Amino acid sequence: VVCFSQDFDFFYLVQQWPGSYCDSKQSCCYPTTGKPDADFGIHGLWPNYRDGSYPSNCDSNNPYDESEISDLIRSMQEEWPTLACPSGNGSKFWAHEWDKHGTCSESVLSQYQYFEAALDLKKDVDLVQILKKAGIRANGESYPLYDIKDAIKDAVGVTPWIECNVDSSGNSQLYQVYLCVDTSGKNIIECPVMPRGKCGSRIEFPAF
Ligand code: 5GP
Ligand code: 5GP
Ligand code: 5GP
Repeated sequence: VVCFSQDFDFFYLVQQWPGSYCDSKQSCCYPTTGKPDADFGIHGLWPNYRDGSYPSNCDSNNPYDESEISDLIRSMQEEWPTLACPSGNGSKFWAHEWDKHGTCSESVLSQYQYFEAALDLKKDVDLVQILKKAGIRANGESYPLYDIKDAIKDAVGVTPWIECNVDSSGNSQLYQVYLCVDTSGKNIIECPVMPRGKCGSRIEFPAF
């Protein structure tokens, strides 16, 4: 019997709201490929342990190699845009995510499969549409945190974690949505452990 050591327990799929990245103190720069859609973008697919800790930078011998994923780049520009300054085409962001996080799931997913898994998962979860159906729109208004969580829970079937940041006036706002994914990278599951951090009881959903 061949026995693999379990090198992580689950993934966090982390999606970011561009409006909340951009209106914070750090500000943002649009990618060289153009302003992203008013949609959540992928931040990353992060291997994690059940105790809340996580591995990182697991294999420097398997660096990001864009030639392996050339037929995913067009989708990644759409679904995984970089907002960091200075403006970039995304390669630096994707390389960082692969090197820091992706290499820690390389026993399960090749580089191609890793990026494809994140893209496929995002396709299954249209957060803007889910929130809109619940009357929650990116219009600068504030919404009860639990209305946002319940809308996602009702649509996806599992409880999400919401990460907030603050805008330049200090208002708590919807920054990132965490969903948990099994080690195959294919199935959304209930989170074995939630991340940490504070939101207000009502949070802003800024326009983008
Ligand atoms: P921050 O300190 O801004 O929350 O996170 C900085 C970075 O640490 C993130 O971009 C991510 O790479 C990593 N990180 C933060 N929290 C987690 C977590 O719960 N799990 C994993 N796998 N990585 C995390
Ligand atoms: P993490 O380590 O938290 O997974 O990723 C954060 C790193 O990715 C930071 O170095 C940040 O500058 C870079 N980065 C590039 N583009 C983006 C973006 O659109 N959003 C976030 N959160 N980080 C980005
Ligand atoms: P409970 O487990 O009772 O729903 O929440 C426990 C605490 O975690 C409360 O302070 C609540 O405001 C906070 N909390 C619950 N869900 C989230 C979330 O998705 N994101 C953040 N940042 N805090 C949350």
